Amino acid sequence: MTNETWDQIREGLINRVGQNNYRTWIEPLRLSQLKNGVARFEVPTSFHGDWVQRNFADHIRSHLLTTGAEVDRVEFSVGGEAAAPRAAAARPARSVARPVAVPDEELPGAPLDARFTFDSFVVGKPNELAHAAARRVAEGGPVTFNPLFLYGGVGLGKTHLMHAIAHELRERHPERRVLYLSAEQFMYRFVQALRDKQVMDFKSLFRSVDVLMVDDVQFIAGKDSTQEEFFHTFNALVDQNKQIVISADRAPGEIKDLEDRIKSRLQCGLVVDLHPTDYELRLGILQQKAEYYRGQYRGLVVPQGVTEFLAHRITTNVRVLEGALTRLYAFASLVGREITLDLAQDCLADILRASDRKLTIEEIQRKVAEHYNVRLSDLIGPKRLRTIARPRQVAMYLAKQLTSRSLPEIGRRFGGRDHTTIMHGVRKIEELAATDSQLADDIQLLRRLLQG
Ligand code: ADP
Ligand code: MG
Repeated sequence: MTNETWDQIREGLINRVGQNNYRTWIEPLRLSQLKNGVARFEVPTSFHGDWVQRNFADHIRSHLLTTGAEVDRVEFSVGGEAAAPRAAAARPARSVARPVAVPDEELPGAPLDARFTFDSFVVGKPNELAHAAARRVAEGGPVTFNPLFLYGGVGLGKTHLMHAIAHELRERHPERRVLYLSAEQFMYRFVQALRDKQVMDFKSLFRSVDVLMVDDVQFIAGKDSTQEEFFHTFNALVDQNKQIVISADRAPGEIKDLEDRIKSRLQCGLVVDLHPTDYELRLGILQQKAEYYRGQYRGLVVPQGVTEFLAHRITTNVRVLEGALTRLYAFASLVGREITLDLAQDCLADILRASDRKLTIEEIQRKVAEHYNVRLSDLIGPKRLRTIARPRQVAMYLAKQLTSRSLPEIGRRFGGRDHTTIMHGVRKIEELAATDSQLADDIQLLRRLLQG
């Protein structure tokens, strides 16, 4: 029996193993030999072989028997090389490491935003390198760095670049299986697979892609079993020389509660940061957006002075900047007025105030008190109860981090405490947050709320 014959008869197995299993596990098998009662199949990975051996070998054997073949045993080997090295030399070389056939529509990816393309990405000094690296990956040539690790603050274009890579790869190499998803979705899928006892399916699915992109990987920090699975997926793909792209809000080494071996793996490729935007970049982004809106709101133009004003004043992140422009257009067209500096100041007063604002220690104290459900007066007062002392230290820590106040100044706002007390509190929280992921999460949340 030849592989071609096998291809013709294997479909008889669909009824026994089911459509999904058939496509995932049976279709990728190649019959390499049927001799002396042994049917030998080539498989893409040893994992694949083990799984088929354990779950479907009997089905395969009995199916072969029904076609009249003499089979006592079914064996699997990876890509022919594990089989019989000497015999292999006599055989013509052929490429057998076919990917597991999971159809694209079953890839558990996240939808891509059609607007996030390279065309719509404005390149400036702060994101130059990230953009160039993303372009390189999107060409789909031989893998030169793995993974590509993109990091930077909120709204600086990480997701935009990842989607752009996916769009481009799909266009250039439609046959490649590109999977983009957030780390949160990765975890969700994994937990679901655990619950439904489908971990093997999960594994084979994730190991069958050509390009894997995981957004916001800091999310899995502290989530042990998800980290573990991520690590194995990562290694399996790197071993197969498949491209991986990762993003996070900070550098690999700075992600707390991420296992060291994962950190060092993530650092192996190219680590690139997206710097905060500068004035030119913000102006460029606004101009591009204005160009786009010109078609949508016919007749409405944003004077140069207004884009310059916005680029100067809104420095937080690009998302806020875009939101401001969108609102400006909507407002102007609603009230039927031209876009002017006055109108912009009116209509964007809250955004402008927010990005202007200097955070005060009082605001920090209030938010922290609210978060931990303690009284503001207690937070500042002398009580030493742990339920109050800890939130107090968190507030001290945030005051040090988020304002430019000196330790003595902070001490004064905390009921006239000594600066050494503040220093101690700050250190304490730093130490604790390194091991206590709940605390680290609290701090991150508060920081977000405060800097909104
Ligand atoms: P991140 O994932 O880093 O938080 P996003 O990729 O979601 O940020 O970007 C936020 C918004 O800003 C998106 O609408 C994105 O299109 C836009 N944006 C960010 N950087 C750029 C850029 N350089 N050029 C054009 N748009 C950008
Ligand atoms: Mg993002």
